Amino acid sequence: MDKSALQKELVKMLGKDKVLYDELDLMYYSYDSSFLTKLEPANPWAVVLPRSTEEVQKIMKLAFDNNIDIIPRGAGTGETGGCVALKGGIVLDLSTWDEIVEVDAKNMQVILRPGVIHADLNKELAKYNLFFPPDPGSSQMCTIGGMVANNASGLRAVKYGCTEQYILGLEIVLANGDIITTGGMKARCIKNVSGLNLTKLMVGSEGILGVITQIRLRCWPRPKARGIAMAVFDNLDDAPATVLDVYQSGILPSGIEILDSSAIQAVNQFKPEINLPDAEAILLFEVDGNPPSVKYDGQVIKEVAGKRARNVEWSTEEKRMAELWEGRSITATAAARVRKDGSRIFAGEDISVPLAKVADTLRAIRALGDKYGIKVVNYGHIGDGNVHTAPVINPENPEEVEKVLQLVHDIHLLAIEMEGTTTGEHGVGAVRRKYAELEHGQAWQYMKEIKKAFDPKGIMNPGKLI
Ligand SMILES: Cc1cc2nc3c(=O)[nH]c(=O)nc-3n(C[C@H](O)[C@H](O)[C@H](O)COP(=O)(O)OP(=O)(O)OC[C@H]3O[C@@H](n4cnc5c(N)ncnc54)[C@H](O)[C@@H]3O)c2cc1C
Repeated sequence: MDKSALQKELVKMLGKDKVLYDELDLMYYSYDSSFLTKLEPANPWAVVLPRSTEEVQKIMKLAFDNNIDIIPRGAGTGETGGCVALKGGIVLDLSTWDEIVEVDAKNMQVILRPGVIHADLNKELAKYNLFFPPDPGSSQMCTIGGMVANNASGLRAVKYGCTEQYILGLEIVLANGDIITTGGMKARCIKNVSGLNLTKLMVGSEGILGVITQIRLRCWPRPKARGIAMAVFDNLDDAPATVLDVYQSGILPSGIEILDSSAIQAVNQFKPEINLPDAEAILLFEVDGNPPSVKYDGQVIKEVAGKRARNVEWSTEEKRMAELWEGRSITATAAARVRKDGSRIFAGEDISVPLAKVADTLRAIRALGDKYGIKVVNYGHIGDGNVHTAPVINPENPEEVEKVLQLVHDIHLLAIEMEGTTTGEHGVGAVRRKYAELEHGQAWQYMKEIKKAFDPKGIMNPGKLI
């Protein structure tokens, strides 16, 4: 089936309102937030906006029978080209299918369709004193379907883990149109060890095994109190050492973030009134829980961090907490402004390394930046070793583009060398596939076999992950 026949068939099947095929519309879908899609944007043949499992099933059957690629898409905030068609095919835009089917508060869970925005879900759950703890920086934009497909997380992962910990079951439409429910067809239980864990397999599968059409998700009680500590260090090594000291004192903060000197400078240059202290590193600890436990945790963190830090400030007062946190919350934006003619690119941006190797990794990234003559701003979720690197270049300059691609390649290799991974958060997509064998060895062959079992014709999001 050629492109125009496919477009006609889709319109016949779903109606004009649910199919996009104007080149201008298709161009919008040639991007996500990755640098890759800026370099090599590629239009799909058609975009569909399904609003029911039956519609998804029909589309899948058509694609399966005609060997047409299917690319599931949420909000397109991914950083790896994951939701972009590399060689034509149908993009399944699930972002308009944003229904919260049921908040089952008495069973501490919620059932929803894939297009619900993360922030909207938590707004709804707040009415029941519940929340879904993973908290990506893209909360106001990204969909829960995209979060499940990417196993997304954020700065609270250190205490609350990633999306996978919360997914109790999924409805998936497979490449051939079969519909499966993982986690038990009728189950509403929280604990379940029956059968092979297909839910875990699907979480983080980046749209290569099937389309997530419904999600059963576990919620947690909302903590009542919060506090923030800022610790300032003259020596980079003291920052990860302090993180360990805090853990060893029996405290598990809900967030532990680092800004190294490059990030501190970027923030101060972008918004001088924030006036972060000039230092080698700043750590921000967030703790949450009941008011007495938050108070206790804060006292311990102040005392423990004070042994190595030049200065530690602790606050539970809303206004001051917002001020302490502001530097971290604008770091990504500030990174993009360190050069007037430059912009921050998303490539090699979320490696994860063992805690004990964070300082060495940051030093090595600085050295790589110097080697290629590229400014790199470093910050991230140090509590779990997830380092965010923000290279800043002029993307219109081909020489700089070539250099930055070498730089991020070296950063990926560095992560593996440091006993870490090329991606702690954002996934593999199209950009990190080449490291799969190096990271996984023979296990990668088995991953390919699993892919074949679910998608024998290879139509599900080809060119991604595997
Ligand atoms: C400013 C910014 C901050 C960010 N911060 C974080 C962060 O803190 N933590 C983090 O983990 N990520 C972060 N990200 C990356 C991104 O937001 C997450 O990966 C998010 O989960 C992607 O959701 P999405 O709806 O945009 O998915 P998309 O980008 O549309 O898709 C992502 C992947 O999921 C697949 N997919 C989407 N929906 C489905 C579905 N229903 N069924 C099957 N497959 C599907 C796609 O095929 C693709 O492979 C950030 C991105 C930006 C732009």
